[in-house]
Formats: sequence, C-alpha cells, structure tokens
Amino acid sequence: MQLNIKDTFSRELPSDSVEENTRRKVFEATHSYVSPRLPKKPQLIHASKEMVNAIGLDKDAINSNDFLEVFSGSKVYPKTKPYAMAYAGHQFGNWAGQLGDGRAINLFEVVHNQKRWALQLKGSGETPYSRQGDGLAVLRSSVREYLCSEAMYHLGVPTTRALSLMFSGDDVLRDMLYDGNSDYEKGAIVSRVAPTFIRFGNFELFAARNDKNNLKKLTDYTIKYFYPEIGKPSKETYIKFFKAVSERTLEMIVHWQRVGFVHGVMNTDNMSILGLTIDYGPYGWLEGFDFGWTPNTTDRQNKRYRFGNQPNIGLWNLLQLANSLYLLVEEAEPFEAILNDYKTNFEIKSLQMMRSKLGFEIEDENDAKLIANLEDCLILSETDMTIFFRVLANYKKGEGGKGLEIIMEAFYKPEEIKDLISEKWKVWFKTYDQRLTKEVLVDNQRLSKMNLVNPKYVLRNYMAQLAIDKADKGDNTLINELFELLKKPYDEQPKHQEWFAKRPEWARSKVGCSMLSCSS
Ligand code: AMP
Ligand code: MG
Repeated sequence: MQLNIKDTFSRELPSDSVEENTRRKVFEATHSYVSPRLPKKPQLIHASKEMVNAIGLDKDAINSNDFLEVFSGSKVYPKTKPYAMAYAGHQFGNWAGQLGDGRAINLFEVVHNQKRWALQLKGSGETPYSRQGDGLAVLRSSVREYLCSEAMYHLGVPTTRALSLMFSGDDVLRDMLYDGNSDYEKGAIVSRVAPTFIRFGNFELFAARNDKNNLKKLTDYTIKYFYPEIGKPSKETYIKFFKAVSERTLEMIVHWQRVGFVHGVMNTDNMSILGLTIDYGPYGWLEGFDFGWTPNTTDRQNKRYRFGNQPNIGLWNLLQLANSLYLLVEEAEPFEAILNDYKTNFEIKSLQMMRSKLGFEIEDENDAKLIANLEDCLILSETDMTIFFRVLANYKKGEGGKGLEIIMEAFYKPEEIKDLISEKWKVWFKTYDQRLTKEVLVDNQRLSKMNLVNPKYVLRNYMAQLAIDKADKGDNTLINELFELLKKPYDEQPKHQEWFAKRPEWARSKVGCSMLSCSS
C-alpha cells in the first residue's frame, strides 16, 4: 500500500515533549505523539471506494492486509508518527478548559491530485486527552458517523469524510442510557478524513492561556495550508481569516437548515475551522418539522442545540473564536463588524435557501411572510419535512385546491388535517399559487430544480438503527444498502422507495431511533 505521505501539522507545529501515554495537561504544544491501541481482532465492515481513490489507492487495496492493519491501528504506516491534537472548548455554553483528541488518533496526511487529506482513527484507544474516557468507540456511534458523514457529502453539505469502518474485536463497556445499566458492546473504529481536523477549540486553548506565540503559529499554519488566498501573516490577514471562517460556518449551517440536519452538540470543540460538519454524535434529522427539536438527550432541558437555534449558536461559537484571535489583532471592531455581517447574511442566505426549496427563482418582497406562514402551517400537525418538500414539487400551477391532497402523505396524523388546520393550509396554497404565477419556470422545470435542493432520502435515525442492529448480528447488508442509497439522495431511485417514508410508529420512542445520548 503506497501512500504519498506529506505530514505538515505534526512537522511544523510544536509537539508535546512528553511521549508517555498518560493523561495530563499539555502546554505549549499542538499535539502529543501517541500510538493507536492494538485491536484484538480487526475486521473490515465497509470502506468507501471514493475515499480510497481520493487518497491515492486503488480499490483493490481495500481487501489488503495492509489496509486492515493501518486503518484499524494494528500497524503504524512506515515513517509516520501518530498523534492526538490538543484543543479546548466551550461545552453547552460553559468554558471546559483543555479537551483534546480523547479518542481520535491522527495517522498522517497524504497529498493526492493536489488535495491534502489528514486521516484519523476514531476509537483506537486512550491518549493524553482521554480524561475519564477509555478512548474507544462502539459500533452504533461508529456506523452513525460513517454513514452520515458520507451521506452529508452527497447532499452537498460541507463535512468531514469517512474512509473505513471496522470492528475492533474488543468489547467496550457503555451505559448507553446513562441510567446505571452498563453493558458490553462491540467496539469499532472509523477512519475519518478531512483536509484538517483543526477546530475552534485549538485556538481557544492557546488564547485561554495567553500563549500568543503558539496561537500565532497555529493561525499562520492554518492560513498557509487552508486559506492560502488570504495572504501573509499580519493583523489584516487574521481579520480576513476570521471573516472567511465565519462565512464558511454560515454556509454550513444554512445547508443544515436546508436538509433538516440537527448536529446536537455544537460545542466549540466540535466546530471545524474549515466550516465542515464534524463529530457526528447524537445528531438527528428532522422528521416532524419543529424548530424546537434536539436529538440530544443531554440537552433535553435547555435545548440549546435545537434545530432553530443552530444559526445563533454558530454566531456564539464564532464569538468565542473571535475572542481568541483578538489576542493577535488587539482590536475589537473588525471582529464585531464580521459578527454583525453574519447576522445579516444569515437572514439573506436563509431566505434564498427557502426560496429554492419552494421553487422560486425570482425574489418577491412578500417571500419572508409566505415562508413564515408555511412554517406556521408545518407545525400545526406533525409534518415530515423531507417528504413535504419533496412532494410539494409535484404541485401544478393553478391547482390550489389540490395542494393539500398532494402533501397529505407528509402528515403523521392525516386524520387531524381538517377544520382550522385544513383551512390554514388552503389559504397558504392560495398564496403559494399566486406567487408561482410570478415565476417563469413551467411546472416540470420547477419540479426538477426543487428536486435538486430537497432530498428524497436522508439518513433517518431509525434507518441507521436498523443497520446497526443487523451489523451487530454480523449482517452488514443494510450498511451497504444505505451507503449506496445515500450516494444519490436527490435521485428518485424507485427500487429504494421503501426508504421514502415517514418514521414508522414503532421508532417514535425506540432507543436510537429518536433521541440519543452522548454515550458512544
Ligand atoms: P464529544 O462531545 O464527543 O465531541 O467529546 C468531547 C470530548 O470528550 C472530546 O475531547 C473527546 O475526545 C472526548 N471523549 C468523548 N468520548 C470519549 C471516550 N470514550 N474516551 C476518551 N475521550 C472521549
Ligand atoms: Mg468532539
């Protein structure tokens, strides 16, 4: 297995001088060298051919012993030195101090077709940053990360990617429901891929310690490799850098809102400096449209990371990054201006995004009102977000009266759609129909365009759970099927029609199918 190794992070940035794998506070270093734990009996569950090619391997490499050994952590690739990154973060709005890769180990960076990829194993043992954890990951959370990150990529949402999913062969003790009932589960390892895994929290770590020297090194490194267009290190460059990160973060969150993805744990240590969706934990997909929904049981009380609050949290997290970069700039106004732009731009981009979901090409001054009215209607009776927007594309101009019939399959309780509720929907369809008369596209053209922004298939929690249950019994067929299905989320795929369905009733309150804990 030949890879074009080009390590930069660990070579150009300061490393921890201690090389013992003991849990500790690490100062003045961006990373600590650590070896992955030897898995007992690694076994490949799935590998992404696309990512295998992206890192410069032939698809046959997937079945080689080298591949199994390197991406399960059994063997370190020649002339590389795995490490865990140091970072800090704000968790649920509170400063949490040093965190770091507690169960991720970076293997190396490769360059292929002029693209840089950092590869890391998630779940391959403890590191100096493991705190109370064991550094391991279980099958259920690994399948969820593996399938979802690739699904998000194919939905057009900026995200980290996944190369492979393996059983480690080890048993891992977890209290899944946090109710005092621990049990052994199958251990698994995902190899994840991204240009870099640097997070807001990497900057916060140095800023909190007033370590300007290392903050500058990290920032200069990030700009040099990942924002090279911005320019040479200077105060002005740092401001431009913050602006670029802010724009990418906004872009990512608008995509989340478009597809109904709820991250679930938007702590600053889970915010990629590249604006990629990172750290798939207790995430979820909106089934019934609901701004107040969060999939994370740990956040059940405050719902800080609920669907409708994601844009605000993006802003809050950017403010924490601004506070860190302030140390290099020593002027607050430029940061404030960028944060204000985020708010304005969010309104603009969000409106554009909703217009596209509704099939509008031109802008009309009443669109914001029409969208707000739609959102009101969507929450009158539980309405499946994905199905609603997908079937709305079938609406034909001038058929206002048929609107409700067309979207009927999106309702979880169609029997509730009567009286006031059905009246409200009829009024909405009337305005929608009038609005469509201002558009030039004919019905078929509008349908095609809407189907490019409104996915037909998303990884509903119950789908992932079914795949997990089968894999736990040694049957990987559903992982394979969902992986293929989610490569083309906007296509009709009639043979997969069974997945274009509302969450079944049995899944409403089943563990893993609606809300999830952080236990993983
Ligand atoms: P998360 O909420 O999953 O992003 O995790 C927050 C922090 O806890 C990160 O620094 C993780 O590396 C660490 N962490 C989570 N689970 C474990 C585990 N099982 N073992 C060690 N560290 C963990
Ligand atoms: Mg994390």
